Amino acid sequence: MSHKFKTYNQQQNWLFPPSIEELIPQDHPVRIVNGIIEHLDLKPLIKAYSKDGQPSYHPKMMLKVMVYAYMDNTYSSRKIEKAMRENINFMWLSNRQVADHNTIARFRSTKLKGAFKDIFRQVVLLLAEEGLVALKEVYTDGTKIESAAGRYTFVWGNAIKTRKEKMVQQLEEMWEYAQSIADDEDKDPTPPDFKKVGKEKVEQTARKINKILKGNDKATAKAKAKARYIKKNFAANLEKYGQQEKLLAGRNSYSKTDPDATFMRMKDDHMQNGQLKPGYNVQISSEDQFIVNYTVHQQTNDLHTLRPHLENYQYLYQSLPESLTADAGYGSQENYELLSNKGINAYVKFNTFDWEQNKTGKKKKKNASTFHRDQLHYNEKEDYYVCPMGQRMDKIFEGKKTAKSGYKQTYSKYRAKNCKGCPIRGACFKGKNERVVERNHILEHYKKKAREYLLSVIGQAKLKKRTADVEPVFAHVKHNRNFKRFTHRGLDKVELEFGLHALAHNIRKKSA
Ligand code: SF4
Repeated sequence: MSHKFKTYNQQQNWLFPPSIEELIPQDHPVRIVNGIIEHLDLKPLIKAYSKDGQPSYHPKMMLKVMVYAYMDNTYSSRKIEKAMRENINFMWLSNRQVADHNTIARFRSTKLKGAFKDIFRQVVLLLAEEGLVALKEVYTDGTKIESAAGRYTFVWGNAIKTRKEKMVQQLEEMWEYAQSIADDEDKDPTPPDFKKVGKEKVEQTARKINKILKGNDKATAKAKAKARYIKKNFAANLEKYGQQEKLLAGRNSYSKTDPDATFMRMKDDHMQNGQLKPGYNVQISSEDQFIVNYTVHQQTNDLHTLRPHLENYQYLYQSLPESLTADAGYGSQENYELLSNKGINAYVKFNTFDWEQNKTGKKKKKNASTFHRDQLHYNEKEDYYVCPMGQRMDKIFEGKKTAKSGYKQTYSKYRAKNCKGCPIRGACFKGKNERVVERNHILEHYKKKAREYLLSVIGQAKLKKRTADVEPVFAHVKHNRNFKRFTHRGLDKVELEFGLHALAHNIRKKSA
């Protein structure tokens, strides 16, 4: 008995060749992409094209292809070009037109750049029209995503500072040495001010040092060589450090191959060695797991990202959410004040909120010390603390602190009258003199308000929802879609790159 196979004949002709349209299932996500982009107003994108020259591929087609590529985990322009040639979904979207990878890359980096936020906004507003988001209650969180830069391309702010200081010190030492052996006519009674050195001053001083040392029998060969080295290198080095400081722009580090990236501690530390890697801090606000706002930052700390993040939200929707829920990483006086001024209900934890709850709740912490400042009684009316031994701690000082962002906070200090011979001193505090505690009255006021919000029924529900709303979005984008590293460099480009991921995420979620 012979084998049975289905007929296979590559030469067999179709009587009615199927159209690509017929081959794509009605519920395929590519149709959702097509439908959504058909509804968008693409005037800002069209504006990015010149009216002169050869006709370009239609921006609507390019946008559909680009968004679908991100949904399909196809990010490189060469792979997108290949997909336009071989993948039936891309072929349907592009009507079988094939843009080359340079055109695709140009579309992404130049044409789409200026118009993308508007496109993202329109898609979110479409989701709102369909009742999938209300833009009222948002959940905000951040994650660090690695830059495309090499991991060992760091430039550290502290190293530049140290090198500069060392350089100035060497210059000063050399100047003093030269003066000590200088002939009378070369002696300079007014030495340069080494506290403030610029390129010109370094050049001038190095020239003077070399002039004194040259042909001076008292100068050693080593000193002469060092003076020549200073003359040759110091001014150029100083200029280089100045440029590096400009690139740092207040940060502690940057990468040589992506100067916008800052070295940060990543959550996904597969080497488990706590190594800092170049990256960006991505902030999102989500609603029912849809991303309604995203911003990319160079600061490692989430604290200072909330203001620009909310500004972006306001720019997108000309309004602000009614409530914002976030973890303790955002609980600062500056942020509480910002949210309060903007009329947003802040369900934002402060750094000791969980500790407070655990010490009274079921998960009572063993180290919930009765000596902790927050455990001491504070008399609000008369403005004093009472220490664990019942001693009154009076206010001794009021000062101001300035945060990295420039925000100023006022704080007060309270000191115990006499801690000498106290039997519980060892457990109470470690200092040599009387115990001093610090209090920020405005922050305490905001913390009290936040505590009330967070412990309310709505607050508890929001805290629970936070872990099921914004956190899974990052998990999905990073782990399910395997987006753990940017492929582009520079803040503008990585912001667009994440934006495309966010848009693809929203459309994917809508079609799920
Ligand atoms: S050490 Fe000082 S502050 Fe602490 S309990 Fe004793 S007296 Fe009070």
